[in-house]
Amino acid sequence: MGNSAEKIYDIGIIGGGTAGMTAAIYGQRAGKQTVIIEGSTFGGQITSSPNVENYPGIASVSGSEFSMNLLDQATKLGAETVMEQVTGIVDEESGIKVIHTTGKEYHCRSVILATGVTHRHLGVPNEERLTGAGVSYCATCDGMFFRGRDVAVVGGGSTALQDAEFLADYCRKVYLIHRRDEFRGEENIVKRLEEKENVEFILSTTVRDIIGDQAVERLILNNKKTGKEYKLEVSGIFIAVGHIPQNEIFADIVKLDENGFILASEDCITSHPGIFAAGDCRTKEVRQLTTAAADGAVAALAACKYIAG
Ligand code: NAP
Repeated sequence: MGNSAEKIYDIGIIGGGTAGMTAAIYGQRAGKQTVIIEGSTFGGQITSSPNVENYPGIASVSGSEFSMNLLDQATKLGAETVMEQVTGIVDEESGIKVIHTTGKEYHCRSVILATGVTHRHLGVPNEERLTGAGVSYCATCDGMFFRGRDVAVVGGGSTALQDAEFLADYCRKVYLIHRRDEFRGEENIVKRLEEKENVEFILSTTVRDIIGDQAVERLILNNKKTGKEYKLEVSGIFIAVGHIPQNEIFADIVKLDENGFILASEDCITSHPGIFAAGDCRTKEVRQLTTAAADGAVAALAACKYIAG
């Protein structure tokens, strides 16, 4: 195992999104040594938001800039960061919690799970095969490839609305396909979209299939009200139908609910002493940037209290 085994961190934070990095900021400021272990992208979900307009005190900021500022703030305070995939946690008799990653282990007095959520897939034929060839889950990452083309966005939440607004600046036409006839996302973005000439809402409609040999060529849609099935020619489909947790690797150490979220309330305390859960990965009503940040603070302070005994 790696030499990191010799060091004992006060707080091991799994997940480098808004919740995890806020926890690191609070932990470091409380004089605790933290390590943030992230498997893919520091910043998490919000990095793919083109424009964040509902974080108090910041009228408008891109998700990537917001994330970079958070990471900068945490590391300048002394938080260590590693880019590794966590495989599990073992609580030793000594009370030290050992976070196992692919190849290393991190010994910690307390642990904060801030693993967030991952993109939900539509589950239609060809979706997996054409991912990266016209099927995308991130408009800000892939939107540029569709400049001047016709694309579809699927979903009715804030992510889908923001994606449609972002893509309307690059694409010739943006179809926003939603399974109901009213949106779940922010009303003010809906109003802005209604005013855009190259955006068309396709409501009460589901995607049945994605057609294309080497890349996406068209969608097969189904109008739920009329039952009519028809084709829509697009070269890209941006899927924004929500998120699902990925907490299976922690199921033997903390209790999960029936949907896979970590059971913890507003105090961020899980079923296992010394292990806390913060942000979208835990059971909660409101999953927002502000509530992720709030959880990070609450979990870090709870971890400090736990360490103090
Ligand atoms: P969401 O709010 O859960 O919306 C998911 C959408 O996908 C819903 O409209 C849902 O339809 C639809 N959907 C789910 N499964 C589907 C399926 N199998 N087929 C077709 N449609 C399906 O997810 P989100 O938009 O990613 O937002 C997640 C959270 O992040 C929300 O709390 C949101 O407010 C927040 N957010 C914040 C910002 C920001 O700038 N601060 C940006 C983006 C998101 P129904 O409506 O019919 O259920």
